Amino acid sequence: MRYPRPTVVVSKCLGFAACRYNGQVIPDEFVHKMKQHVDFIPVCPEMETGLGVPRPPVRIVMDGDRKILYQPSTGRELTLEMQDFSARFLESLEQVDGFILKNGSPSCGPRNVKAYVGRENVSRTVKRSGFFGGSVLAAFPDLPAEDEGRLRNFTLREHFLIRLFTLRRFREVERIQTIGGLVDFHTRHKLLLLGSSQSGMREMGRVIARHDKKNAAALLAEYRACLEKALLKPPSTGAVINVLLHAFGGFSGDLSAGEKKFFLDSIEEYRDERIPLSTLVYLLRSWSHRFGNRYLLDQVFIDPYPRDLVEIADSGKGRDL
Ligand code: SF4
Repeated sequence: MRYPRPTVVVSKCLGFAACRYNGQVIPDEFVHKMKQHVDFIPVCPEMETGLGVPRPPVRIVMDGDRKILYQPSTGRELTLEMQDFSARFLESLEQVDGFILKNGSPSCGPRNVKAYVGRENVSRTVKRSGFFGGSVLAAFPDLPAEDEGRLRNFTLREHFLIRLFTLRRFREVERIQTIGGLVDFHTRHKLLLLGSSQSGMREMGRVIARHDKKNAAALLAEYRACLEKALLKPPSTGAVINVLLHAFGGFSGDLSAGEKKFFLDSIEEYRDERIPLSTLVYLLRSWSHRFGNRYLLDQVFIDPYPRDLVEIADSGKGRDL
């Protein structure tokens, strides 16, 4: 399987440069692994707004409803500089498929960043988006954007990777701009989309059925909007299990009783959040090769992203964060 390389904007301190306020870099194993498969655009918004290294730390301060980027040791406000940089940078991106941003940073953190209520009061805090991270979510609400902390959770990581590589594959369809390319994409993603959103999958089918009434660019834009929405939420466990059982049904005459029992027991382990989806998909992939199941071998569901990017051994945590 060939995987086109997604373009991902990443916080520069996650292994690319020693640009933290204290002059440190934070190596991240997952980001490091992704370098083989992804074209990264590293960025440090604090450096880009003119803050050097090392520098006094900044924080988010709430002044009533107003969110301020504040440097307590100097009393400087950097809100406008950061908003200006974020807008310019995000508008300048010609193509992007996703974002990996530094957890907890007042600049990069996409969600749940500590914000102090009042400049002097350090005892009351609330949670907000960081300045750059919040601008990313506002500018690209339907693209995958996660922090490196959440990506240690194997379920969130699987969902992030499925969205990232699916949207990148769709860019190939947009490049070719043919109805045949779109139909082929839709066909190969059928099981994956069924697991993500049955209603979204049906809507995408309706978009394709109307193809003679629209030009290719308008059709692809409509399909992309449906695709991004369908992939937005992690699929429900029940929907994914239905897809797994559907695929498993294709081997009903081929497997021994022991193999069937093992697979069904493994589904229960997946339901109980003890193993990731990739474990079950691995079994289906291996049987597809063994029994020459062409239909399944053509489905992206059994090979949605480079395999070395999810390993149960380093997953650490279960389903929810
Ligand atoms: S979190 Fe963002 S702003 Fe802070 S050092 Fe890392 S890249 Fe720079």
